[in-house]
Amino acid sequence: MPRPSSTNIIPMGAITRVRRLFFQHLFVQHLFVVVTVLTCAAAPAFAREKALPKSKPAAAPPTAPAQLSPAAAASATERKHGPVVPMEEFAAESDPSTTSRVADSKPEEPSACYTRIADRIAVIQSLAELAGPGDCGATDVVKLEAVIMPDKSRVTLTPPATLRCTMAEVVATWVREDLTASVAALGSAIRNLDNYASYDCRGRNRIAGAKISEHGMANAIDVRGIHLANGKFAGFTDRNFAFDFRETVRKQTCARFTTVLGPGSDGHHETHIHVDLAERRGGYRLCQWNVLAAVDEVPLPRPRPQEAP
Ligand SMILES: [Zn+2]
Repeated sequence: MPRPSSTNIIPMGAITRVRRLFFQHLFVQHLFVVVTVLTCAAAPAFAREKALPKSKPAAAPPTAPAQLSPAAAASATERKHGPVVPMEEFAAESDPSTTSRVADSKPEEPSACYTRIADRIAVIQSLAELAGPGDCGATDVVKLEAVIMPDKSRVTLTPPATLRCTMAEVVATWVREDLTASVAALGSAIRNLDNYASYDCRGRNRIAGAKISEHGMANAIDVRGIHLANGKFAGFTDRNFAFDFRETVRKQTCARFTTVLGPGSDGHHETHIHVDLAERRGGYRLCQWNVLAAVDEVPLPRPRPQEAP
């Protein structure tokens, strides 16, 4: 007699329990798969969040990991944030054109000064804030390209001057009201202002370690003279040029700016004049410019006649 198969002797209730156990096992497996998938999907998000550079509080202690060598730390940072620029390069930075790139971009709204003078008395371009190096810097900086005269003609600055807007405004007014009158007395008109130096981050008189010059604050300009419509150059310190003109310009300039340095001031201003708007206690002004007598007014020894022995 054939042996009955095992299925034949398993009761139906047992089959149902086995089936239930099988489905319970399947459910747990699915649950495990779903949790695993969700965990894997969330992990990169956490990783991304952790990788974001955090803004470092001013008083935060140094965060460079002590166990990493500088090269390894730099390499890790480079992978994370891109190329590393050593701080020494910033510290040694001295090119103002490069430094200005570090500062924020142009102000969103024009300043009151900009609105007051742009396209009215001056052709100016708004520049980014000047920030460093050191104590150098200025806000509301413009490139002064030309002065717009009352008859709408233009007096150019060569090269254009980098000045804070308030200084550019005074320079434009000086040209329009003062120099124009002086040049009219010569029977000519101004065509161009010779800009010898404007913004320049340096110590006074280019002496390293000296107090920062007003040039480093974009608050000063050096000028040699002006080109006239008749083709002549009116040098402010040129003893060959009309004494009365130079003396008038000195008086006007010292009334317009708070600092004026020229020949006889400190030995650094024999070929040009320096003007700035430095603010001093008590409103003190500095006007040091000796207008030297014209060369032909100084008695010279008579030339020896050629036929003389
Ligand atoms: Zn100067």
